Amino acid sequence: MKTKIVKAVVLLALVTVGYSVFGQRIIPESDEELLYEIYKELIETKTTREEENNTIAVEGMAAWLQAAGFSEEDIYIGGPLAHKGNLVARYRGAGDAAPIILMAHIDVVTAERADWNLDPFILNEDEDYYYGRGTIDDKAMAAIFVANLIRYKREGYQPNRDIVVVLTSDEESGGNNGITWLLENHPGMLEGALAINEGGYGMLQDGQPLANTIQIAEKIFASFSVTAKNQGGHSSLPREDNAIYDLAEALLKIKAFKFPIDVNDVMRVSYQRQAEINTGQRSADFLALLQDPIPDDSLNRLSQEAAINAQLRTTAVPTLLDGGHASNALPQTATATVNVRMMPGSDPQDVLRTLIQVVNNSDLEVLYQGGGSSSDPSPLTEEIMSVVESVTEEMWPGVTVIPTMSTGATDGAKMRNAGIPTYGVSGLFVDRNDMRIHGQDERLLKESLYGGYRFLYRIAQELSAN
Ligand SMILES: [Zn+2]
Repeated sequence: MKTKIVKAVVLLALVTVGYSVFGQRIIPESDEELLYEIYKELIETKTTREEENNTIAVEGMAAWLQAAGFSEEDIYIGGPLAHKGNLVARYRGAGDAAPIILMAHIDVVTAERADWNLDPFILNEDEDYYYGRGTIDDKAMAAIFVANLIRYKREGYQPNRDIVVVLTSDEESGGNNGITWLLENHPGMLEGALAINEGGYGMLQDGQPLANTIQIAEKIFASFSVTAKNQGGHSSLPREDNAIYDLAEALLKIKAFKFPIDVNDVMRVSYQRQAEINTGQRSADFLALLQDPIPDDSLNRLSQEAAINAQLRTTAVPTLLDGGHASNALPQTATATVNVRMMPGSDPQDVLRTLIQVVNNSDLEVLYQGGGSSSDPSPLTEEIMSVVESVTEEMWPGVTVIPTMSTGATDGAKMRNAGIPTYGVSGLFVDRNDMRIHGQDERLLKESLYGGYRFLYRIAQELSAN
């Protein structure tokens, strides 16, 4: 019912300006109901690349904050594009220590109604789950941060440093209108001692919490092209030299090649902890990764698993093919795109040199096509680890905190490069065999949403207390 009332107010208030276009929000008394209302509003505001209601979404969040008594000077909305607004909201602390940043993106990957069992832009639920695009990635954290800021306010929480919530609008498409724009145009607003971001999840196994991950580093996206050229000719007169054969041979060499193992400090801790939560041979294999040299049999076993192999080394794989010009002609050109995910701190020029050596054919041209920003891992400090570990223990006794490196990219890399140590941690527990981020029927356990809400409430409190 409450939702219907709010919607009626929306229509009447459309004539007003700025972020009051949604009208006054009515803050529910219950904290969980408040989170639910905010979450529902975010899920039901289409922030896909096609619809781009991102500014409406952040204006809605600003309206909630205003309704809770946040002053206009503490709420900023802006961006280079009218439909891709970003929000920065500040909860003022007593001291002048550097703020802590709570960041989430509010844009989502496209979802087609026909591909889903339920409307992706309606917050649907069954007994256990909430369904909808963004229920995990990343509107859960966005809603939680806004709801918690309001909760701190009404509880009269007095932090020692500012808590700054940053909601960005251009993460999924990798554009420059979100965090990149804010960092370039309003660096002062984002100044902080550290940032909490997406990228870390609680892992459920058979419904039981097993580990809570904290993302410390990200691999770097880079694309390369491999091109074979040939004089061509009539296909009725084939010769040994052939652009498609040359390219195929080059790709098979890339298939056989493995980039060297790279166990950085973050991953050392990660493997140690993964050894703790596994048993038998698997546990022994994780421990073997800490040896120098790493025993081949352990390495070979673990490398069989795509998710572990991708943590161990830079990877390269062909993703696109283009070649030939007629079915009755010898190909004059054949090109493959090779997508590389580099370990943190890698240089694409080094990877280029490696690929040229691997291909080992001077008739082929290997080029770097571009990629994401390289960033070093955030420091694994006592400050952050002790807070995440103690709150995890408080909420889920016995659950291990595991530092991780994402094989994909988030806004975190840009923050790290701006000098703000960024940690992906959410306390949102998900089944590790049922990850639907970016996929069909994205969903989040109801219990996980409210658990993550309480977890992040405590995390931001602990980090801002002194
Ligand atoms: Zn995301």
